[in-house]
Amino acid sequence: MRYVSTRSLEGPRISLSDAILSGLAEDGGLYVPSKMPAFAVSDFEDRESLTDVAVRLLTPFLAGDQLAPSLAAMCHEALDFPVHLRPTPELSAGTFMLELFHGPTAAFKDVGARFLAGCFERMVADDERPLTVLVATSGDTGGAVAAALDGRANVRVVVLYPEGMVSKRQEKQLTCWGANVKALRVRGPFDACQKVVKAAFQDADLRHRYRLTSANSINIGRLLPQVAYHAAAALWCQRQTGAVPAFIVPTGNLGNALAAIWAKALGFPIRHVRLATNANRTIPDYLTTGEWSPSETIPTLASAMDVGDPSNMERLRVLYPDVDALRADVSADFVTDADIRARIRSDFEASGDVWCPHTATAREVYARLSVAEREAGPWVLVATAHPAKFESIVEPLIGRDVPVPPALEAILERPSRVTGVEADVAAVGKVLAEW
Ligand SMILES: *Cc1c(COP(=O)(O)O)cnc(C)c1O
Repeated sequence: MRYVSTRSLEGPRISLSDAILSGLAEDGGLYVPSKMPAFAVSDFEDRESLTDVAVRLLTPFLAGDQLAPSLAAMCHEALDFPVHLRPTPELSAGTFMLELFHGPTAAFKDVGARFLAGCFERMVADDERPLTVLVATSGDTGGAVAAALDGRANVRVVVLYPEGMVSKRQEKQLTCWGANVKALRVRGPFDACQKVVKAAFQDADLRHRYRLTSANSINIGRLLPQVAYHAAAALWCQRQTGAVPAFIVPTGNLGNALAAIWAKALGFPIRHVRLATNANRTIPDYLTTGEWSPSETIPTLASAMDVGDPSNMERLRVLYPDVDALRADVSADFVTDADIRARIRSDFEASGDVWCPHTATAREVYARLSVAEREAGPWVLVATAHPAKFESIVEPLIGRDVPVPPALEAILERPSRVTGVEADVAAVGKVLAEW
């Protein structure tokens, strides 16, 4: 399998390892497989566990790459925490929550980050100089990437986050790691962190001297394992209910939802994918009007979905160049902060279920379905994070504490290490030089 840029589908074809190491293509596009493999449900008859499904599904994507012999080991490593498809009789029969938040940092990004970390480690294990992963984060991504790379051989990670802009628990998830992870608390907003990272990559000397690479959500190495859990959930749901499910996916940069749409394109039993966005409604507006008009990002309660210009749209367009074809398979609704609050409160009162603000958008979109839509077949709602991660939003709404899951608890008890820096690429250069 070779990979091409979304901006030159007939252009240069590179290996998966090269696509992972470069992150973004040189022409600014995103990497996609030059040809999508195709599966039949019967190919997975003997596969039940997520890891077993992932290994078979990902085999053609790694074919011919140096990482291919490590695929099974990488899937076992990345997916060694439970991913549940939980029936929800309190909503209605045939409705399930796909719980992706039982990993070390309690959000779905753990899956992609851990798979990517496994790829990096294997690619550079025998090299003379370590690889340095540079990430700017507004919260969730940096924690997942730091946790995933902690202790890996020959890979270091520098995480930049904006001072005063991340929650206490998120800050702990950025700062509690071992010697190969450095957290930099930047005096400035998230945009300033992103600018520093960009400037570091544009500095050819820094880039080569420290072998800089990125781990952001457009990396194909994060996307691929996300396809696997949607595919596995579709198989599990079909086996349990005898029918083909539709999915509702909380959506920001469109990484997680694109993975569900790829699973459908590969032939897995998914009848429709419904996107739930927050007030950043670029995608719902596109589906309504057919016009792509990215906008400034609006801050919301579901902050990990605050994206005004979702980058994975480029990959979606390769699959659906025609908006009408897209509308047949994919729909989208946006959910305001007021609706998120009301949904968290009312579901807790009705059933005791507690959602994180992101998952609440999917629950709200489900609540808006017509009876006919609900009865058309089973629904899988993707739960992207544990509510304990967003306690300062959720606890006042439900009027009680949210118990912290053990994996998150273990992190919260660790000591922190962090360096405060100015929003200046020279500060990063200094940290790297003194490491
Ligand atoms: C990142 C994130 C999202 C959005 O996922 P995308 O892949 O960017 O669409 C939703 N919920 C949570 C909890 C997240 O961390």
